[in-house]
Amino acid sequence: MSTAPPAGTPTGTPEYLRAAVQRLLAAHDPAHTPAAEFLGARYDAGLAWIHFPVGSGGLGAPRALQQLVNDEFTAAGAPVLDSGRHGIGLGMAAPTLLAFGDEEIRRRFLRPLWTGEEVWCQLFSEPGAGSDLAALATRAVRDGDHWVVDGQKVWTSLAHEAQWAILVTRTDPNVPKHRGMTYFICDMTAPGVEVRPLRQATGEAEFNEVFLTGVRIPDAHRLGAVGDGWRVATTTLMNERVAIGGHAEPREGGLIGLLAGTWRERPELRTPGLHDALLRLWVDAEAARLTGERLRQQLAAGQPGPEGSAAKLAFARLNQQISGLELELLGEEGLLYDDWTFRRPASPSMLQGTPGYRYLRAKGNSIEGGTSEILRGIIAERVLGLPQEIRVDKDVAWKDLPR
Ligand SMILES: Cc1cc2nc3c(=O)[nH]c(=O)nc-3n(C[C@H](O)[C@H](O)[C@H](O)COP(=O)(O)OP(=O)(O)OC[C@H]3O[C@@H](n4cnc5c(N)ncnc54)[C@H](O)[C@@H]3O)c2cc1C
Repeated sequence: MSTAPPAGTPTGTPEYLRAAVQRLLAAHDPAHTPAAEFLGARYDAGLAWIHFPVGSGGLGAPRALQQLVNDEFTAAGAPVLDSGRHGIGLGMAAPTLLAFGDEEIRRRFLRPLWTGEEVWCQLFSEPGAGSDLAALATRAVRDGDHWVVDGQKVWTSLAHEAQWAILVTRTDPNVPKHRGMTYFICDMTAPGVEVRPLRQATGEAEFNEVFLTGVRIPDAHRLGAVGDGWRVATTTLMNERVAIGGHAEPREGGLIGLLAGTWRERPELRTPGLHDALLRLWVDAEAARLTGERLRQQLAAGQPGPEGSAAKLAFARLNQQISGLELELLGEEGLLYDDWTFRRPASPSMLQGTPGYRYLRAKGNSIEGGTSEILRGIIAERVLGLPQEIRVDKDVAWKDLPR
């Protein structure tokens, strides 16, 4: 059965979208269709990101109706991609490819990203450029219709699984740092890309250091203008904070659900003090969930703003408090760590493993995707309108900055 929009139908109405979802479900029974095939059909029908253009997984429909489409698919038990393995692709690469990629880029990359056939990673952080991303030193030098890239990236989640990366480089060291950067799509299988594991406090190596030596990237894989990489990176970072802090959770989902479950199942561990602490965190988690819901609705109306920073900040604090209380509740039992062997997860998840794992992994939440201090700075300046931090390096060429 065809899932193409019937001629003359207004694709942006709830009625049309509901009917299109039902047609797709009738043609591809989610219970018996392999996930990649189902997701491919969903993409081809324009029901992946409905606000994307026709041919790029969308219908040019109002973004506000995306949730309706998602809910219909969820109710039918349709597959979705694993947010651990595909979080960077879906949350950061896709919106950046849409905003800055030409039609050819979108045609080449968006479908396999959406179906999960290609994993993405993010080559932003460097040993000397994390919070101050605009200080980065990885060089890209033009060579005909290619660029030659040399440098080192660090903390690159899932680089060992990824086929593609979003990459920010320095292309002009003679201008102030924000102005001399250029953004690319990097083939992680290209000669000169070397991925080395970095082991975390949890024992596993979810992230890596990545060495780029003479890596050749076609100019066709540039996103945005030469020297305009900061603007492209800002789009990615704003989406990153929403992706980390604002993804949909059911009530009592995620870490608070695990903690509440232990509380119900283990009456012998309960004390009045722990009860108070649990209730307070339950309320905070519910407030964070509803704030995330509002954020998604605001997002439906346009690009993410600084609100995503507040959501990411709250998510990190809550995860650390909840995983801390889980250990307190379990006492000595909570300190047992089952397995500290070296692991390379194909799909990192906060919800896996033991309470000890969750406690250690949650520490990274206030660092990854922008540290809590940086997010507080963004909220102070862009939401509360407080005076800006003094930036003495604003008008100095990058090559003259002390390093
Ligand atoms: C689990 C995990 C996964 C990650 N995955 C990726 C990835 O896939 N790709 C990627 O590119 N990066 C990734 N990162 C890196 C992460 O984005 C950086 O670690 C982060 O941006 C902080 O940079 P930094 O480590 O260089 O710390 P620094 O920037 O050196 O900061 C050190 C401390 O100083 C504070 N600080 C710095 N500047 C200011 C300021 N102006 N005001 C107040 N305080 C300040 C910071 O908040 C922090 O507490 C990951 C990190 C973690 C923990």
